[in-house]
Amino acid sequence: MSKPNHLSREKSIRRTKTLFEIFLTISIIGASGYIIKGIAERSHTVGESQYYAIPEPVEEEPELPDPDKVIYETHSVQTKDKFHGDLILVNEHYRYYSGDEKLVSINERNAEEERTLFRAVDPSDTDKMMIVDKVYEPMASMIFDFYDATEISNILIYGAYRSTEFQQSLYDADLLETGAEESTRVAKAGHSEHESGLAFDLTTFPDYDYQGQGEYAWFTENCYKYGLIVRYPKDKEQITKIQYEPWHFRYVGFPHAYYMTKNDLCLEEYINMVITQYHYQADQHLEFTDDNGNEYEVYFVLSDDSSDMTTIPVPTGKKFEVSGTNVNGFIVTVYKNEEITTPAVTTVSGTETTTETTTETTTE
Ligand SMILES: [Zn+2]
Repeated sequence: MSKPNHLSREKSIRRTKTLFEIFLTISIIGASGYIIKGIAERSHTVGESQYYAIPEPVEEEPELPDPDKVIYETHSVQTKDKFHGDLILVNEHYRYYSGDEKLVSINERNAEEERTLFRAVDPSDTDKMMIVDKVYEPMASMIFDFYDATEISNILIYGAYRSTEFQQSLYDADLLETGAEESTRVAKAGHSEHESGLAFDLTTFPDYDYQGQGEYAWFTENCYKYGLIVRYPKDKEQITKIQYEPWHFRYVGFPHAYYMTKNDLCLEEYINMVITQYHYQADQHLEFTDDNGNEYEVYFVLSDDSSDMTTIPVPTGKKFEVSGTNVNGFIVTVYKNEEITTPAVTTVSGTETTTETTTETTTE
């Protein structure tokens, strides 16, 4: 009996133990439930507070460099160079301050290049028929291409660089001839584009009467391809204050000649447009694409007249040029398709200037 009793007692102990374990387990589960519920409620309450909200981890797309984002770096130029460069405006309001033009003799260069198609005719013994170095090649190429297109070979260069003294003598001679007190045909000394060496006049021989008519209209239509403009166009006399001069060509560089020609703007209108609408800090810069798909960006930077140097923002890694306007600052021309890898060095009328690549950059 004792044995079964013992067994049943043992069984009942085990049952009790099992029941207790079950109870314990349920209690733990229950308690855990409350704890978890509490945490959940608390965490829910806490979750509503922005201070403790932990943002869901978001898998970020790897950031690709934006090819359209332009990074600018600073480039320093001498403030006085605002009076020099391809885009200077020289007219009755803005006088030319002669300086460091790099002049070459047209006839000497022709001789060096063994070119006999055209020559410069010296209208006076003192004038050497010089032109700014970089203008010689576009001028010569235009005359050669005209010959290829028309087989006409009677072109002469009849006017090029003039010293201020020579301009004065032309002015005086005109007053003498007309008897007037002011000349309407010859610019005052200091106010002729010829003093910059960036302009030249074409004529024909033997008549010396170039009018840009007939086959010669080729020059008017094609000069922009060489970075040249007819500086005093037919319908812009009210703006330029100079009569139509189909023979007077002015070098401004291809992008600008292209834009002015396609948009029927004379130099006064173009410079005024860039200065007033396309300041560096304006919402947009002047951007355009030529017939070959080359892209350009053009903008204006005010000169820092309180300092010898003006800091100019230029895009990193792109070819650019800086020119004075002869008005109140500089125009930057960016060749967007032309990458440069080394720190840019460019020239403003022969003065070497450098770009700081380590200074602050701005983005647009
Ligand atoms: Zn001229």
